[in-house]
Amino acid sequence: MAENIKIEIVTPEKYVVSESAQIVMAPGALGEFGVLAGHTPFLTSLETGKVRYRDAGGNEKLVFVSGGFAEALPDRVTILAESAEPEEDIDYERAKAAYDRAKKRLEERRENLDNARAQAALQRALTRMKIAEDGGSLH
Ligand code: ATP
Repeated sequence: MAENIKIEIVTPEKYVVSESAQIVMAPGALGEFGVLAGHTPFLTSLETGKVRYRDAGGNEKLVFVSGGFAEALPDRVTILAESAEPEEDIDYERAKAAYDRAKKRLEERRENLDNARAQAALQRALTRMKIAEDGGSLH
């Protein structure tokens, strides 16, 4: 059997994931990348999206991540994200409320609107809603 790698997902607030995985997929700045044991080391910034991994028992797990960096080493992937939650911890109603707020701001187009900030909030909310609804169309 192939070797496992360690996956760690950490935010400034909490330790989100620390376990063994068979494979890890993550949303890098240049697109989604996959890491298996023995991977060549690299470092990338992260987009808002989902990290998916297969744990040692073969279960698929999904984690929302936004911002930060991922470092891949031959035996581990470390993700330092601005925010992250496992699929089961996503509060759909909270994400929907954040989506409505961001959408309203973008539609109002007030003069002092921080457009990039509102777009980023909208993207986070949409991604959380998608993961909570259907696992982000994983299957
Ligand atoms: P909100 O406006 O609802 O705070 P946000 O996108 O601005 O959403 P973040 O700054 O990404 O929130 O995250 C702040 C904290 O709240 C983090 O700990 C994050 O994990 C948590 N969080 C945000 N939205 C949700 C959600 N819908 N379900 C569960 N946790 C959430």
